[in-house]
Amino acid sequence: MGFQIAIDGPSASGKSTVAQQVAQKVDNCFYINTGNMYRALTMLCLNKGIDVEDEESVAEFLKSVDISYQLQDCRNLILTIDGKEAEMQKVRAPEVAAKVSFVAKIAAVRAWLVERQQESATLGNVVMEGRDIGTVVFPEAKFKFFVTATPEERARRRLAQPGETVDGATLAKVAADIAARDKMDSERKVSPLRPAEDAEIVDTTEMTIDEVVNLVVNKVNQAD
Ligand code: C5P
Repeated sequence: MGFQIAIDGPSASGKSTVAQQVAQKVDNCFYINTGNMYRALTMLCLNKGIDVEDEESVAEFLKSVDISYQLQDCRNLILTIDGKEAEMQKVRAPEVAAKVSFVAKIAAVRAWLVERQQESATLGNVVMEGRDIGTVVFPEAKFKFFVTATPEERARRRLAQPGETVDGATLAKVAADIAARDKMDSERKVSPLRPAEDAEIVDTTEMTIDEVVNLVVNKVNQAD
């Protein structure tokens, strides 16, 4: 097992962009987006007509599906559903985003996905982003960051990402959607969104992506 870089934070805080670039700059480091695992499961439930608020039905569905990261080549992992590469455009659709927090608060779902996330880290060094990486998935991670930004800035960033919001979405609507998801993620009983006690909090509101990436990479490179 290599080392882990945990990057947690609320929706649209920029953690995916930062985590991806960190993975490119740190030697032999895979990038893992755990939000996409929760989103993939939510997408499958919606496609199959499973009520995402019915915990038992969702938990039962877990027995018949596999969602995991697998090696694409020696540098990259890809998200797979039953062994096939997941279609990211569908996984990241706004309709899925609107329901994902219901699925993510189910204890059985979290246990099931956390196990898969921990397994992925046996492949090598990882930078893993999510909500509970520093607190639950890898409480012993060597590096922990909690990346955040003001709600207004996060709404602006989300609106600027193609394919992540419905056509004609306004800043106010995007801000409201993000706030609703953060509220559910922070208030759920199992593994709520919160910084680990030993995480470095990075408020990125006034920072460029490069500045945030460099901050993380320098910490990693300076460690022995
Ligand atoms: O990071 P992203 O916004 O793609 O995550 C989508 C949703 O998945 C979050 O709003 C949250 O409900 C859930 N999630 C989680 N734990 C993680 C990653 C994501 O509960 N580690």
